[in-house]
Amino acid sequence: MLKNMNILKLMDKFHSEDACREVLEDLRWPDGVTCPRCQSKSISRIRKNDIYDCNSCRYQFSVKSGTIFHDSHLPLRKWFVAVFLMVESRKGVSANQLSRVLHVSYKTAWYLTHRIREAMTVDNPTPLSKIVEVDETWVGGKRKDVGHGYKGNKTVVVGAVQRNGEIRLQVIDERTREVLHEFIKKHIADNTEAIYTNDWPAYKGIADEDIRHETVNHSENEWVRGDVHTNYVENIWSLLKRSLVGSYHKVSKKHLNAYLDELEWRFNNRDNPYLFRDTLLKLIKSGNMTYGELITPSHST
Ligand SMILES: [Zn+2]
Repeated sequence: MLKNMNILKLMDKFHSEDACREVLEDLRWPDGVTCPRCQSKSISRIRKNDIYDCNSCRYQFSVKSGTIFHDSHLPLRKWFVAVFLMVESRKGVSANQLSRVLHVSYKTAWYLTHRIREAMTVDNPTPLSKIVEVDETWVGGKRKDVGHGYKGNKTVVVGAVQRNGEIRLQVIDERTREVLHEFIKKHIADNTEAIYTNDWPAYKGIADEDIRHETVNHSENEWVRGDVHTNYVENIWSLLKRSLVGSYHKVSKKHLNAYLDELEWRFNNRDNPYLFRDTLLKLIKSGNMTYGELITPSHST
């Protein structure tokens, strides 16, 4: 039922709070309602359709208890529409757009987008392998009074794309040898077949007996040599830049990594028919966090 979600299914299946709640209950408790406090399965319903009472420890709870859905006071239907729009729109959805569509304040929409975005992460991603393209780009920080080549106000993002596979993106402080090599070690398998990059000197030395390193000499206008190119990762950059138009200039640099996670999540799940369900599942399993906690520096990933 949650496979290949589309807007009509969304309207049919989630027409009421009860319908949304039942889906969340199935996702949270696939083996039956369980007390979040003592894990007992001996549970009574005390108010029709909403509150449960644990027969072992007398804790009263709902499917929202201890989840991000609890404190928001937003109808589940609005959460569901927000999740649907964020996973199905290729370029993502801005808080402004969500505020209009859901008829909620900008602040609420901003909270929703950030909370959902935070669920769009993978804890221990598999290292990329086979043929992987690596590249860097600058985003944000447009200034009118400086020339086109000015980079001082911009943020550097590094990305790796496995051909026909997944992507990994990350904000970095500077594109030095140390930083780029660390990124590559973290995200690419030790025995990967090849890494393709541009001719930025900091990439030198990433080859070893297992890994072949090929470069295209962008500085000499060479873009493709046989199958050596960085076109896939460059397509990701154009997708990133289009999705940041209209939203990034309003959001601080500290949230850019979260944007990158969101883009990764959508891209890496592009063939997943259960993307909507899987995102809901991540949301219900992530702890709850208030608006205040979200905007404090400790969460500024
Ligand atoms: Zn209990």
